[in-house]
Amino acid sequence: MSGRELPRKDLFDLPEGVIYLDGNSLGPLPKGAAERALTVLRDEWGGELIKAWNSADWISLPRRVGDRIAPLIGAPEGSVATGDTLSIKVYQALAAALRLRPDRRVILSDSGNFPTDLYMAQGLIDTIGKGHALRTPAPGDVAEAITDEVAAVMLTHVDYRSGRMHDMAAITRRAHAAGAVMIWDLAHSAGAVPVNLTACNAEFAVGCTYKYLNGGPGAPAFIYARPDIVDEVQPALAGWMGHDAPFAMELGYRPAMSTERLRVGTPPIVQLSILQQALGVWDGVEMADIRAASIALSERFITEVEARCPQLVLASPRDAQARGSQVSFAFEHGYAAMQALIERGVIGDFRAPNIMRFGFAPLYLDAADIVRAAETIEDVISNELWRDAKYHSVSRVT
Ligand SMILES: *Cc1c(COP(=O)(O)O)cnc(C)c1O
Repeated sequence: MSGRELPRKDLFDLPEGVIYLDGNSLGPLPKGAAERALTVLRDEWGGELIKAWNSADWISLPRRVGDRIAPLIGAPEGSVATGDTLSIKVYQALAAALRLRPDRRVILSDSGNFPTDLYMAQGLIDTIGKGHALRTPAPGDVAEAITDEVAAVMLTHVDYRSGRMHDMAAITRRAHAAGAVMIWDLAHSAGAVPVNLTACNAEFAVGCTYKYLNGGPGAPAFIYARPDIVDEVQPALAGWMGHDAPFAMELGYRPAMSTERLRVGTPPIVQLSILQQALGVWDGVEMADIRAASIALSERFITEVEARCPQLVLASPRDAQARGSQVSFAFEHGYAAMQALIERGVIGDFRAPNIMRFGFAPLYLDAADIVRAAETIEDVISNELWRDAKYHSVSRVT
């Protein structure tokens, strides 16, 4: 552990002149990641062929990467499995949670949750066919809605649109008091805010690694199961990589005696290798320092933008303690304005219907970047540069 200071811009390959405020959606390329991928492709796959599962220890890579993620989310070694996509991991956690509470029929989430989490829940309910219901109260009403009908509370810790953050410890306590299983989606938390899964005692957590963990497009997801309940977790997707002895090729499924039972099929070795390299940027970093720097950057950003652009309305909690590591502003012409910003090297993103979203990753952002971003936003808004027709054609990905 080196204890180096923030930011650590030199650890990333960011294009010259770009201020990247979209690491909450896709983190930038860490240095060494491209070389690592090339080594895996050329030397390990190309040179070793199938022997690389053993000679390059591909077989244990999912576990080793899980162990590198674990300390970032306050989880013990061996409790985090990697692979698949977050959507799949949501499905698995939810299916396992429902089987832990067979007499209950309600999944409780909130109306601010990311759509795929809710879609996966609906799909699971249809597949099970036992009349479960998905309830989605407003985020502020969730705690009240945790009744003894609820089998599982499934929430995303930090709201992808507004950045509003749930009180993980308090909601988990409430879920447990009502006898429900707690599942946290850490998509916008892992690498962004301190998380202590052990302290909060939730049964499950899931997350992705291409956002604040900089694992690259399509990087594998992760799933945590509380160590003391792993034995009771019945995998809905009983794939061979979650089997206790995959290469025994038994006809019947016997789950691994660890979180590994929540793995499914062959791990994505190239992506896992890139992610493993990317996780090196966290060596010697304390999440508390990341949080302090993130709050300083986002507070500065809000102050600068509000002073310069009264047209933009803050759409995130004003209290920094109630926000994750992003700040959103509502603006009627937000889509076009974001396109104008991106063309000027300030990259954030847009979420329907009118949200301009900016993420703060203190690993590669400093106060000077924030001021320059605010100046560019002022230019685009005050001079109505967003009116240019070229900013109004909507791409498939926003
Ligand atoms: C980004 C995100 C996802 C994305 O799921 P994938 O399966 O990785 O595409 C899911 N849930 C939440 C809360 C997210 O923020």
